[in-house]
Amino acid sequence: MRNYTQFYIDGRFVDPITPRTAEVINPATEAVSGTISLGSPADVDLAVAAARKAFASYSQTSAQERLELLQTIQAEYARREEELGEAIMEEMGAPRPLACGFHTMLGSGHLNTAIEVLKTFKFEEERGVTLIRKEPIGVCGLITPWNWPMNQTCVKIFPALAAGCTMILKPPQLAPYSAQILAEILHESGVPAGVFNMVQGKGSEIGTALSTHEDVDMISFTGSEPVGVQIQKDAADTVKRVGLELGGKSAWIVLDDASLATHVAGATAGMMGNSGQTCSAGSRLLVPNSRMEEVKKAAAEAANAVTVGDPTGNFAMGPVVSKSQYDIIQGYIEKGLEEGAELVAGGPGRPEGLDKGCYVKPTVFVGTNDMVISREEIFGPVLVIIGYDDLDHAVEIANDSNFGLGGYVSGEDLDACREVSRKIRTGAIWVNGGFDFHAPFGGYKRSGNGREWGEYGLHEYLEVKAVIGWNPA
Ligand code: NAD
Repeated sequence: MRNYTQFYIDGRFVDPITPRTAEVINPATEAVSGTISLGSPADVDLAVAAARKAFASYSQTSAQERLELLQTIQAEYARREEELGEAIMEEMGAPRPLACGFHTMLGSGHLNTAIEVLKTFKFEEERGVTLIRKEPIGVCGLITPWNWPMNQTCVKIFPALAAGCTMILKPPQLAPYSAQILAEILHESGVPAGVFNMVQGKGSEIGTALSTHEDVDMISFTGSEPVGVQIQKDAADTVKRVGLELGGKSAWIVLDDASLATHVAGATAGMMGNSGQTCSAGSRLLVPNSRMEEVKKAAAEAANAVTVGDPTGNFAMGPVVSKSQYDIIQGYIEKGLEEGAELVAGGPGRPEGLDKGCYVKPTVFVGTNDMVISREEIFGPVLVIIGYDDLDHAVEIANDSNFGLGGYVSGEDLDACREVSRKIRTGAIWVNGGFDFHAPFGGYKRSGNGREWGEYGLHEYLEVKAVIGWNPA
């Protein structure tokens, strides 16, 4: 059992002002795995005051000083990486190799990237008579989701530290453990008091207290669209900057060529990774209508090959994060059947042999783009295959979505893939896979307005000042 009942405020682990706790449930067992404290707006006030006080000196540190701080954190993060992975496995159900591998590696990747960017970033630039300065925006409220806990926290904290900002992290209530360990890492690394603060609790209480706070300059939020909309409204009265990283319904276009079956299998297995709980997951698979039978066979085989079970065992996919998320996903699977989508793998209920835990069958439908299962983010291991007549039709279907986060195009003709990539209205698109910590990540349309990762991620935490007359005319 883990008992993380203290917050991190002004360089110390402290008790909440009003004691109140909540149980944390392990989604694999549905049993209580520990306790956290639920904070109140009064705890937020203390954390914001500490961050404001620390901003006066931290914002004036040199890039070199901040670089050295980040390098110290690197060593401490590496020392606790295994522990972070175990916590992620327990809090959100990722299988151990994934939790202790890609999950924690994303955190260290953002840390390493912030260091690389900071080494060469120009905070000042002269243009004629004017000096353009990039200055830290101030006190930041960082509100994060549970699905890739280290990715989401580290992609905010390290660029904010690199920029010279101070901050208050509000971790997700469903997955609070890894954030607590991260706070310990930052404490042990000697982050100055008040620069980083953390208050756990409910979004509607701690998140709202941050969004509406007079003395918070910016909110960086990753999470669902409805909460993003609410935060923007809550933040409006204080005209703070709001960075939104929201949901998606990304299309994966497979070209009509000899590698089609391989790409369909890869896209299907990819969809099931992290139990389908990835904002940029390719949840709509667009394939040539003329080859639908071949596609169904390849997708069904790939989905049926995904082993599901206890995250501590040797399985490819663990549970989804919670019983309520399980119920939502089951609702969508039922909806798909009601809408007349053809089920080619998986379906309602838990996988065979699992009678406890939030386990979902890797599920594949063939449907149309107007179905609810094609339009709404399911956030579970459910793929919808949609047929296209030609590539223009594929692009039209891909862009026919309220979201605009990610996209994928796979095929042997690189020029054709590139042509498709230019026409897709999303913040990122992957051509035959690939991975880049320096590539900006964020959404068009209702997928948000921010850009994280790499140098663009640093810009999120900077204001631009013009000093006119810096150079005589
Ligand atoms: P969520 O919106 O329910 O919660 C996210 C965070 O916001 C949590 O910490 C929550 O406590 C807090 N919150 C809830 N209500 C709030 C309020 N009124 N004011 C302030 N904060 C509040 O999302 P979730 O279920 O944790 O995460 C899943 C969602 O996140 C999916 O939609 C997914 O696509 C999205 N996501 C997006 C990205 C991206 O980079 N675009 C990455 C990961 C996840």
